Amino acid sequence: MNTTLPKIHDRVVVDRDHLQDLFVTLANKGYQVVGPTIRDHAIVYDTLTSVADLPIGYTDEQNGGTYRLKKRADQAVFGYAVGPHSWKKFLFPPVKRLWQAKREGNSFEVIPENDEVPRFAFLGARSCELHAISIQDKVFMRTEYTDPTYQSRRKNLCIIAINCGQAGGTCFCTSMGTGPKATSDFDLALTEVMGNDLHYFVVEVGSQLGTELLETIPHREASLDDIQLAEDIVANTAEHMGRSMDTTGIKDLLYRNLDHQRWDDVASRCLTCSNCTMVCPTCFCTTVEDVTDLTGEHAERWRKWDSCFTMDFSYIYGGSIRASTKSRYRQWMTHKLASWIDQFGTSGCVGCGRCITWCPVGIDITEEVRAIRESESTPTKAAKEQN
Ligand code: SF4
Ligand code: SF4
Repeated sequence: MNTTLPKIHDRVVVDRDHLQDLFVTLANKGYQVVGPTIRDHAIVYDTLTSVADLPIGYTDEQNGGTYRLKKRADQAVFGYAVGPHSWKKFLFPPVKRLWQAKREGNSFEVIPENDEVPRFAFLGARSCELHAISIQDKVFMRTEYTDPTYQSRRKNLCIIAINCGQAGGTCFCTSMGTGPKATSDFDLALTEVMGNDLHYFVVEVGSQLGTELLETIPHREASLDDIQLAEDIVANTAEHMGRSMDTTGIKDLLYRNLDHQRWDDVASRCLTCSNCTMVCPTCFCTTVEDVTDLTGEHAERWRKWDSCFTMDFSYIYGGSIRASTKSRYRQWMTHKLASWIDQFGTSGCVGCGRCITWCPVGIDITEEVRAIRESESTPTKAAKEQN
């Protein structure tokens, strides 16, 4: 074991048997560890108490509208891609009471929320997910409009990232420039290495906190071979993405094609169920509901995740602005891939593939973009006849 503490950007090796020490160290530092675990035949994110809670020896098979959990032939700890949950459920809770009010004679008193904010340690965050968090940082922590719920959870966050050892069937982070290797915004980044009776993690230090975590976890300096092996694993993942998306000029492509017939085609398949927005790690729309008790003495305001796929979301006096399925799907995809860039300076898509896997009818955002792009490069019948 090396007694000299590594510095930021250094890489060390932690044996698989010492992964539990990471849990102990995080708990001793006051963190609530959340990460992947199996529930209802899927890998979801929840509170973890030990290594045994992780989906050891499991993998997932994903495709449009399909997700299957499978046993692996080995005991890989992180041998799967992302599931239906994303980390936004911890930083931006699906349901949140904003304040309460109680009647005071002819007036009322507002009681602000003073809930205790956990210090989360995200264990197993993928590179695409780090990019999604950074996108939501832009949404919720702009200087002019900062969301206190998000900010209070975000500021004490510890991130233990995992560089992906395999891509899911619907992943396309390579196309979006968001993975599969974590390059920033983590405290430690692990690459799982297995083979020849060896099982260990090459760990990159990303912050001072990462250095401090390693103080109580046995480790050794990574050799050049260890580092190369870890790089090769990630490079191999990048070459085996389940999907790809050509993002060249994508903003203008979509703006040019607001009346494309493909929107009718996708609308004939879309159920407007809103699954795609619920699973997307960057979608952030909410609605606000006020409730009162029957006596009229007590009222509460709640914020809940909403979706641009619901009729109510764009309802104003007289009706919904986006009454058709076509207009709602177009709004979602064009916001995600085009107007998001105008609004936040980045794409709203990180290529995680969740919207493809969890769409009950398998609508695939990469296929929809491809169809519009290819139609522009295919000569129309009229143009053909002219030639
Ligand atoms: S695209 Fe798929 S997941 Fe999204 S609303 Fe339509 S049917 Fe539901
Ligand atoms: S749009 Fe789909 S692929 Fe892109 S980040 Fe959202 S869920 Fe992932």
